[in-house]
Amino acid sequence: MIKYNLKCKNKHEFESWFSDSKEFERLRSKNMIECVFCNTKSVTKSIMSPRVMSKEQKEKENRSLKEIQKIRKDLQKMRKFVEKNFEYVGDQFPREVRSIYYDKRKNKNIYGNATPEETEELKEEGIELTTIPWSDNKDN
Ligand SMILES: [Zn+2]
Repeated sequence: MIKYNLKCKNKHEFESWFSDSKEFERLRSKNMIECVFCNTKSVTKSIMSPRVMSKEQKEKENRSLKEIQKIRKDLQKMRKFVEKNFEYVGDQFPREVRSIYYDKRKNKNIYGNATPEETEELKEEGIELTTIPWSDNKDN
């Protein structure tokens, strides 16, 4: 589909869709295109309006990009904090979390990996967890 801006001899401008540029020529040669305002068959193609991104849209995009960068920075900060203050237990995380939760004497901060299923199970047991989207260090 192609959209043309059309103009009649009385300077009316309107838009119309065609399957391709050939269809436009074909319809015009058969006088099948007429102005929607004055019904004249004397219609020509005017220059197609280029698609431009408005300034507002551009600013919006820049803003969300900045927001993403800020979130990533915050996550990196959070990650550094966790790495410094929490003990890494890796895949032992669900087991370690339970041992801390059920043995109240233990009190340490740990972090590690858990599958979504494991996380769900722990939550059902009443264990409060925070999931941090861990961004890969490689693109830092
Ligand atoms: Zn017209």
